[in-house]
Amino acid sequence: MVSAPSGAGKTTLCRELLARRPDLRFAVSYATRKPRAGEVDGVDYVFVDEEEFQRMVEAGDFAEWARVHGNLYGTPRRALEEMLRAGYDVIHDIDVQGARQMRDFYGEAVYVFVLPPSMEALAERLSGRGTDPESVVRERLRRALEEVREYALYDYVIVNDVLEKAVGELESVILARRLRVEDLDPAWVEENFFRQEE
Ligand code: ADP
Ligand code: 5GP
Repeated sequence: MVSAPSGAGKTTLCRELLARRPDLRFAVSYATRKPRAGEVDGVDYVFVDEEEFQRMVEAGDFAEWARVHGNLYGTPRRALEEMLRAGYDVIHDIDVQGARQMRDFYGEAVYVFVLPPSMEALAERLSGRGTDPESVVRERLRRALEEVREYALYDYVIVNDVLEKAVGELESVILARRLRVEDLDPAWVEENFFRQEE
């Protein structure tokens, strides 16, 4: 699970890593905001209207959902679980409220918080992206501080200063997660180290 204040570069980071690693999948969220230039429906988000989103909330289709910057965002439960069942490591982008909700259901997930190097850099990236009007940028900067305050909710923090370095760090977190001792199959240890002893 990857969260970041808007503009820190989480989308760029995730895209870079997904391009490098065919063994990873991206969980596409549902969103009620309008697509930005270049965004593709079904790839970046599934874009739906509020009515459709509320219908899905009532049907229990979301593992979590939240209102962020005035729009609704949600994680489709079935798609996420299918990817996990198929054995993929899944990268999922959610805000701080979503991460808090997911912790209760997907305790085994790793929670990564991406920070910009500074508030000045964040402001520059948000304006430089050129996708949002000035009023939206201002609101996102204000909210960024509230989100940064929640960093302790996460397992890892990556400062996205140099993109290449940050992508490598995100990859390291995922690779390290795969090596956790609780995921080791005791039958494999038995078979490979102790059976010959008998
Ligand atoms: P988020 O998904 O967190 O809202 P984006 O990935 O859209 O952020 O990045 C916001 C802007 O910052 C984009 O214009 C992106 O090209 C730029 N950006 C991302 N990472 C870096 C970086 N390490 N250095 C400089 N600019 C970056
Ligand atoms: P953006 O509109 O910039 O793509 O995303 C705005 C915010 O929505 C980001 O903080 C992003 O992490 C969050 N977000 C994206 N998808 C989801 C989701 O499925 N659930 C939640 N809770 N937040 C999401």
